[in-house]
This record gives sequence, C-alpha cells and structure tokens, in this order.
Amino acid sequence: MKIDTFTVDSPNVQYTPEHIISRYQYGNTKLVQGEGGKWVVKPWQESFEFRTQRKVPKLGVMLVGWGGNNGTTLTAGVLANKLGITWMTKDGVKHPNYWGSLTQASTVRVANFEGEEVHAPFKGLLPMVEPNDIVLGGWDISRVNMAEAMERAQVLDWNLQQQLVPYMKDLQPLPGVYDPEFIAANQAERADNCIKGSKAEQVEVLRGQIRDFKKNSGVDKVIVLWTANTERYSQVVEGVNDTYENLMSSIAKGETEISPSSLYAVACIEEGVAFINGSPQNTFVPGLIDMAVKKNVLIGGDDFKSGQTKLKSVLVDYLVGAGIKPVSIVSYNHLGNNDGCNLSAPQTFRSKEISKSNVVDDMVQSNSILYKPGEHPDHTVVIKYVPYVGDSKRAMDEYTSEIFMGGKNTLVIHNTCEDSLLAAPIILDLVLLAELTQRIELRRDGQPFQGMHPVAVLLSYLTKAPLVPEGTPVVNALNKQRAMLENVFRACVGLGPESNMLMECGWT
Ligand code: NAD
Repeated sequence: MKIDTFTVDSPNVQYTPEHIISRYQYGNTKLVQGEGGKWVVKPWQESFEFRTQRKVPKLGVMLVGWGGNNGTTLTAGVLANKLGITWMTKDGVKHPNYWGSLTQASTVRVANFEGEEVHAPFKGLLPMVEPNDIVLGGWDISRVNMAEAMERAQVLDWNLQQQLVPYMKDLQPLPGVYDPEFIAANQAERADNCIKGSKAEQVEVLRGQIRDFKKNSGVDKVIVLWTANTERYSQVVEGVNDTYENLMSSIAKGETEISPSSLYAVACIEEGVAFINGSPQNTFVPGLIDMAVKKNVLIGGDDFKSGQTKLKSVLVDYLVGAGIKPVSIVSYNHLGNNDGCNLSAPQTFRSKEISKSNVVDDMVQSNSILYKPGEHPDHTVVIKYVPYVGDSKRAMDEYTSEIFMGGKNTLVIHNTCEDSLLAAPIILDLVLLAELTQRIELRRDGQPFQGMHPVAVLLSYLTKAPLVPEGTPVVNALNKQRAMLENVFRACVGLGPESNMLMECGWT
C-alpha cells in the first residue's frame, strides 16, 4: 500500500508556517574500559532539536562539464520530464521518468496499516525542490551548444533527441577553466571555450559567472556540481594547498599545482555556493576543506557511485555480513565514451583507481573473525577504453570467497552500466539533497541552532569515496549509507529510526 504525503502528530513535532521543528532523542553507545581492562558498552541518549525550513527555494544548478555525456543527459531528461515528451522506439512508446533517483523513485516505510507495510515516496519525508523546477546551466571547455553536445554523447534515443533540439540548441555552456596539465592530452582538441588569464583572474571570472547566472535566471539559490573530466591528483604540498591561507596565496602566485576543479570550488565558496565533486580527483585538498569549514559553505563528494562500485558496496556487505570471507575481488571495465578516453591516460586512471580501491575497507574491518588485523582481500581494478561500446560501459567482476570447511565460492557478474543514464539521476539526488541539507538546522539542549557540518556526509550514498568531516568514520556499505540519510530525515519529522523489529506484530 502507498500514500503520497503525510504529517506527523506528536507532542515532539511542531509545524509552523516557516519550519518543521522536531525534538528528538538520539540514542547510541559508548565503549569504555572498566576494571581489569574489561570492555564495557554504555548506552546513552542525548536530546536534539531539528528545525527544517519549509519554503523550498527556486534552485539553479550549474554543472562543470555541462556539455559532456552526464550534463547533456541530465538536461535532456529534466526537459523531457518537464515538457512531458514521449518518444518512439522499436519497443514502443517511452515516457520520461526519474528512475534511478533515490529521492524521486524510491520509497520509505512510514507505518503498518491493517497488517501491511505502508510506504510513501522518499521525497515526501521533507519539503524538497521538484527536479522539473530546476534551472540548469554551467560551463564546458568545449564550445558546442547543448543540442549538438547531446548528439555527440550518443546516449538518448534519436527520436527523443530530435524533439529536444528546439529546447537545447540555444543553451550554450559558459567558457571554463582549462589546464592541460590536469586532464588527458586527448582532450586538448575539445578545449575551444576557455577562460584566459592568471589563476586569480580565472577565479574572479568564475565568481562573476555564478553571480550573473543567479541574477539572470532569477533563482534563489545556486549549487555547482563537477561532472567534468577526471583530473589527475594534485600533489598536496605543505605551504601550497594545505591550509586556506596557503591555498589563497598560492592562487595569487599562480602555483601550478592548483587544479581547475579546486579553482571552481574556491570561486563557489567565495560566493557562498555549495560545490559537489562527482569525479574522483582530490579537488578537496586540505586547504579547500579548511576554507569550506571556515566559511561554512557546503562541500560534498567524491565520484558518483553509479554502477560497479554501487553493486560492490552491496555485495561485499552481504558476504562479510553473512560470515563469508571475500579473498579476491577483481573488477574489469571497458567503456567507449569521452570519460573512458580521458581515463586511458595513466594519471587520470590513477585517480579512478584510488577512488575505487577503498570501497570495501569498512566492511572488511568490521569483521575480525574473518580478517586478521591488516588483512585485506586482493582487490584489483582495470579500466580499458573501447570506443565501440560508447556510453554503455561493461563492468565484469569476479568475487572469490572462502566458505565453510575450506570451501570456495565464486561469483561472476557482468554489468552493462549505461553510464550516463545511471549518473544523471545521481546528480539530481546530489543537488536536491545538498539543497535540503542547507535548510536543516539542529541544536543540543539549550544551545543555539546551527547548520549541518559543511562537509556533507549525508551525500555518502551517492559517492564512491565519501568525503567526511575530520573524525567521522567513512562508511561505504550502501544500506548503511541509505539508512543514515533516511533516519536523519525521519528525525527531522520526529520519526524514530527504522528498527525492523516488528514488535507490534505476531503477538496474541
Ligand atoms: P564527458 O567526457 O562526456 O563530459 C565531461 C565534460 O567536461 C566534457 O564535455 C569536457 O569538455 C568538459 N570539461 C573537461 N574539463 C573541464 C573544465 N575544466 N571545465 C569545464 N568543462 C570541462 O564525461 P561524462 O561521461 O559526462 O563523465 C563526467 C565525469 O563524471 C567523469 O569525470 C567521470 O569519471 C565521472 N563519473 C561518471 C560516472 C558515470 O557516468 N556513471 C560515474 C562516476 C564518475
């Protein structure tokens, strides 16, 4: 059974015209060493108050790499949904949807009713921006308009593309910051739409572009998301990019190790605009994290978790959680889109390899019955560029595990990823959730309200290598990441976390 919307009736929840206010008891456990070094677990509880602004802003989203496969696919998808465009394929008429988006196409259980679970849309938990109302814009170092860029991407059915051309041909990406040092040499011929000048001047241009976009589109709030090509890692150098102050003085001096993605992020933070990184490179060098925290502007990342890694973060969680010991995980990918072309260079591939490599760490470390301290499964990732398969990435994984009494279990998975069709709804979720996160405040008993931490750990579900605040554990297991998101939003409307205990059932 399903319902679309609901309100919560509780003495701990108050709906005012501006806010939803919820008083919430957060329960957790603390580990202490008692007498004789014995471990003791102490449950504790703390009162929090959540306050969520109800008014949803008109949202503008600027994509870095707007003219790429993800940027064009998202733009076309939003337009097709907004305009209700249907299209003909050999399988029949297709209708636009937002499948693959956690906020738009998944549900949460809100209660049981007459012995059945009742679900509501995830987006019904709290007031959220409607994707069809988002104003899209952004940058690309390639000059072609969005209609031509959509054709170049070869992702969407031709009949749909033809219908969208009139709406996309006048959308023109802004010139972007290009530095051939940071992406593969094979991207050079695309780069015909670039901002000139020193690094400091480029940041000023980016800031002006953000301000102009906001003014000209009439939006209340802007969020910027990087879906441009994967850059190589920047070296983190003491005195160069390790603190906010050093980063800014390095930009002023034109230090070569400051990447374009970091320059976009600096421009955003200076403008008070959230910046999300959908690619694997270390845009968020320590100096940038320092800056975002000091200026209290939301940052989130890194690297969309769309296909192979999403499955890995479910499968390894299942295996380790079932007491089965994965000992070898080998992942092969081949893809033929421009992302694959860029990743065929060793330096950019290395960024992807790093991002993909740590995704099972938390699950492995959680089980000291299976793994000795420091023990880890062999984990290898291979990516090859095969132009013919285009955006239809193939991901092949072999998981070998040790089971009962010396037995072995091998799982082999072939995953056809349709890369941009998986990534576009994730981009949508990232901006919608980042926007909502900015409207949530909380306080401990008797203290003033404050916003959530600027390093947006709540976006972890959507990213391969979650960026978390200092001192916060990195969680990769997909179901835990989803539970965190859902339970925080439930807390904002005074609902407890899902315990799945079913204590209300099965009694006579
Ligand atoms: P793409 O190559 O089709 O698009 C990237 C666009 O960025 C290109 O149009 C390029 O011209 C532009 N660009 C490059 N550098 C720029 C800069 N400095 N400023 C402005 N524009 C710039 O790639 P894609 O398939 O859309 O993927 C985008 C990114 O998302 C890649 O880094 C990829 O690794 C990452 N990613 C994608 C997926 C997925 O598609 N499933 C998953 C995880 C991560």
